[in-house]
Amino acid sequence: MAIDLGTANTLVVLKGKGVVLNEPSVVAVVDNKGKKSVLAVGDEAKTMLGRTPGNIQAIRPLRDGVIADFIVTEEMIKHFIKKVHKKTIANPRILICVPTGSTPVERKAIQDSALAAGARRVQLIEEPIAAAVGAGLPINEATGSMVIDIGGGTTEIAVMSLGGVVYSESLRVAGDAMDNSLKEYMREEYNLMIGDSTAEKIKKDIGTAIPTNNNTYAVKGRDLRSGTPKEVNISEEDTAEALNPILKDIVSSIKKALENTPPELSADLVDMGLTLTGGGSLLNNIDKRFSKETGLPVNVADDPLSCVAIGTGKALDQEETFSSVLSEY
Ligand code: ADP
Ligand code: MG
Repeated sequence: MAIDLGTANTLVVLKGKGVVLNEPSVVAVVDNKGKKSVLAVGDEAKTMLGRTPGNIQAIRPLRDGVIADFIVTEEMIKHFIKKVHKKTIANPRILICVPTGSTPVERKAIQDSALAAGARRVQLIEEPIAAAVGAGLPINEATGSMVIDIGGGTTEIAVMSLGGVVYSESLRVAGDAMDNSLKEYMREEYNLMIGDSTAEKIKKDIGTAIPTNNNTYAVKGRDLRSGTPKEVNISEEDTAEALNPILKDIVSSIKKALENTPPELSADLVDMGLTLTGGGSLLNNIDKRFSKETGLPVNVADDPLSCVAIGTGKALDQEETFSSVLSEY
């Protein structure tokens, strides 16, 4: 069993079956006079985000790429493993993909959660390596490659060669920050308060890094002055302006990574280009924008949302080839 424990989505891959679970990394917790218990996990819990009454809390335990809540994270991992457990052998070997920025304590906690959920053996793989394997990059060769994984909470930028990470940075600016920027923009430009889900929907529906048309799009929210529900029309231009600060942050980190890349590997990147993975790479024209700003070719991996899970699955299957990048605590 291979698990991509993402800040926004968790995916589970089973040998020979591909992706068998793909649900938001969200847990709804009820607080009954100080006694907390899990109400819902995944899809069911996500619909509750921003809509819960006082005693229920919908939590994204990995939100910023670090484990904000160990107990909730453990419950979530156990729930997902149990959910697919029926389809697999008892006590599977599990390979879990973790962000490069996670601490040894967090890695151990993730590993222990999976063991507690019935795994026979738990190994970990770093996210950029899994992303590169999933994108089909030749990471075991002496050729440099750069992967930029734009997830929900974090953007992971890594340069790899010979199966190892030569440089990596985990930036706490990704899809969630894009949503927040859109919320702020709607408030400032249109006096409209919108929720997280609405902001995410705008981003997916018409959000763009470079505007290409003037079509309008209706957004519903609450008028800040009157307090009543209101609808306004926005354009692609609005989204590009709102997302600009986030894209600039990511570009400056990419440039920093390029400056820190050894010259021989830099030369490889001129031919190979940069590879984008993660849900954030689905933002319209983000590849064109990055290419324009770096002067390098930029490719979006096939199926960017599943790329890391698929790569983790491949590493699980080919244990021998990838033994040097698998770790245990
Ligand atoms: P993680 O690995 O952190 O769980 P994912 O790779 O699953 O993250 O990506 C989730 C992020 O991708 C979310 O912020 C989501 O809003 C964003 N996303 C998904 N589809 C699109 C799209 N079409 N355009 C822009 N962003 C998208
Ligand atoms: Mg991810």
